[in-house]
Amino acid sequence: MRMILFGPPGAGKGTQAARLLERFKVAHLSTGDMLRAAVKAQSALGTAAEGYMKRGELVPDQLVCDLVVERLAQDDCRLGFMLDGFPRTVPQAHALGATLDKAGIALDLVLVLEVPDDLIVERITGRRTDPVTGAIYHLRFNPPPAEVADRIVQRADDTEEACRTRLAKYHGETTPVLPYFEAKGIVRKVDGVGPPDEVTARVLAAIG
Ligand code: AMP
Repeated sequence: MRMILFGPPGAGKGTQAARLLERFKVAHLSTGDMLRAAVKAQSALGTAAEGYMKRGELVPDQLVCDLVVERLAQDDCRLGFMLDGFPRTVPQAHALGATLDKAGIALDLVLVLEVPDDLIVERITGRRTDPVTGAIYHLRFNPPPAEVADRIVQRADDTEEACRTRLAKYHGETTPVLPYFEAKGIVRKVDGVGPPDEVTARVLAAIG
């Protein structure tokens, strides 16, 4: 399976990706995770990306495209992959299309998780991550167990201000990507509102 998980920040892409990866043994390519790892490692890419990420802005296309093209060439992507958070701009979609065409690979599916803006801010500002396991929690909707509660952290860009910038980028720069994939007939939209299990059931039904 070769698919893209698409949707606004806080739509549940990370949560659903983790569940799908238990079923489908494909490579998980989250550009957000890759960029956060680069920031943590203080690599040249991380240093270049950090400011944009903190402000909730998009990292320049060239940097992200190079990262993804390099990653797609690795062995574990041969049997399938799940792109999560990429492409986020029309030039990124075209760069991905060119790379896949060159490799003779076709995408099977673009799965869009739809969540209204007013819910996004609530979800993002309450989101916390366990740095040990990578598990994602929400202070109200999915509180962490007591043994984890002391070590959970908030992402630097999960503040309300950065969240609003990220939402504006999503509507302004990312949703214009969809017609490119709709023209290929591979877009499926799923209601992302509700408990994670219910959303997973909808996602699996959409994958078919
Ligand atoms: P995410 O974890 O997908 O919400 O991404 C966190 C941040 O990483 C975004 O707000 C951007 O600053 C940056 N980022 C992740 N993926 C991309 C991308 N495809 N293009 C540009 N910036 C990205």
